[in-house]
Amino acid sequence: MPVCQSCNQKWTWKQTVKKSFTLDTAMPCPHCSQKQYVTSRARKRSALLTMIIPFLIFIPFFFDVNIFTALGLYLAAGMGIMLIYPFLVELSSQEEHLW
Ligand SMILES: [Zn+2]
Repeated sequence: MPVCQSCNQKWTWKQTVKKSFTLDTAMPCPHCSQKQYVTSRARKRSALLTMIIPFLIFIPFFFDVNIFTALGLYLAAGMGIMLIYPFLVELSSQEEHLW
């Protein structure tokens, strides 16, 4: 789980997900209210993770599954990524450029 670089407190899974859903890149820490940013390294890792989803579209072409099984897989993958995401988040007190 991410640790706040300002107060060194750990964010819970729930807090991380909640903060991640805001469009603002600055996420105020739930403990000390200091703005925290996801590091570029963590952003790259999560981008790689979400890149799995487009590949799942091809599953029905290779395997004999019906559309409902495929949809179920997409949903499970989406939920799986959301579950894993907070574990990949690293926080920084400064905003970093992606590249
Ligand atoms: Zn903090």
